[in-house]
Amino acid sequence: MATVQLRAVSKSYGSGAAAVKSVDLAVADGEFVVLVGPSGCGKSTTLRMIAGLEDLTDGTISIGERVVNDVAPKDRDIAMVFQNYALYPHLNVRQNLSFGLERRRAFKSRWRGIFDSSYRTHCRAEHAAIVTRVESAACTLGIEQLLHRQPRELSGGQRQRVAVGRALVRDPAVFLFDEPLSNLDALLRGEMRTELRILHRALRATMIYVTHDQEEAMSLADRIVVMKDGIVQQIASPAEIYERPANRFVAGFIGTPPMNMIDGTLTSAADGTLTFRAACCAFTLPGDRWNLTGLSGSGARAVTLGIRPERLALTSDQSTNAATLTGKVVATERYGACADVVFVVDGIRLISRAPQEQTVRIREGDTTTMSIDLHAAQLFDSTTGCAIARRAELG
Ligand code: ADP
Ligand code: MG
Repeated sequence: MATVQLRAVSKSYGSGAAAVKSVDLAVADGEFVVLVGPSGCGKSTTLRMIAGLEDLTDGTISIGERVVNDVAPKDRDIAMVFQNYALYPHLNVRQNLSFGLERRRAFKSRWRGIFDSSYRTHCRAEHAAIVTRVESAACTLGIEQLLHRQPRELSGGQRQRVAVGRALVRDPAVFLFDEPLSNLDALLRGEMRTELRILHRALRATMIYVTHDQEEAMSLADRIVVMKDGIVQQIASPAEIYERPANRFVAGFIGTPPMNMIDGTLTSAADGTLTFRAACCAFTLPGDRWNLTGLSGSGARAVTLGIRPERLALTSDQSTNAATLTGKVVATERYGACADVVFVVDGIRLISRAPQEQTVRIREGDTTTMSIDLHAAQLFDSTTGCAIARRAELG
């Protein structure tokens, strides 16, 4: 097992704009790190540079203690699993799993075995070790019944397991995954996600995983790296990314339905009271909670208030000091255990997610009141998009 460290890693293709811009990332030994971001943000390029399939334009990559910028992919002690798992169609599962290992073995002289019986014994032992490794990997992945099958006789999920198995038998220091589950249907994707998580726990291997799917990132990662336009936006645990997004982009990208955003202004009174005003509402915010020192401008400052859908609750409380919003329900989306209520307040569309039983009486066209849990609200500087730090989080 090994650590992986990227220092100021950049990549430009030809004369085009940089695909990856000065990425710093330290992956701990045995950690499961997920790179997530919209299509084209540089995730695959970053992973391919770690694998050695792309040269760096700038920076260094180390695996363990060794800088690997000039080390060939085969000598980096990594194994990569791709979205299109590319199994050898004419080989059965067992042969697909053992192919890489046998090929390495075949580089050594075959002729020697004809004259040298101790070498023949050595070769047999090597072959037996490969068989053991293949069978143990198949067992780990629950495909031991499929070893004799051809790839065309497998389902998508089974093929993906074989692709993971091919990485597993090599027992690499670092596993790299590039959207390995994207070809699977939603149900199977969920199952495979759980299996990968269990596999990671069993192996305690260093894994770096790329996906555009924030839900996949949230469910798999020890730590998430959110990227946009080749730039790292935030590196943190799933809980922290969700609760304390570093900026508006991260807040909007992570979480479904996305965080509600209300543009307004913030004023602070002499006694420290903060007031948030927007077209649809005005609230007093817990004043000692925010650190405004980094906020641009003075007086009434442009900010965006962010609130997660599950922190926007249906309420009957109409009292003036509660942070409430009254609007018209335009849609309800029911998922069984919970429901999303979409409502419009002064032209702004907001979503509340609530347990199903609280929403049974809500109908489209109703006027309804929602209360905002201001202790869970986020503030973003409208100019920079950066989150305004909460005091409890400082120091
Ligand atoms: P992601 O995996 O996040 O979708 P990529 O790393 O594949 O993004 O691509 C990042 C950017 O680099 C994109 O703008 C893409 O068009 C560009 N790019 C990727 N590969 C190449 C290449 N071989 N030649 C030129 N541009 C490339
Ligand atoms: Mg990609």
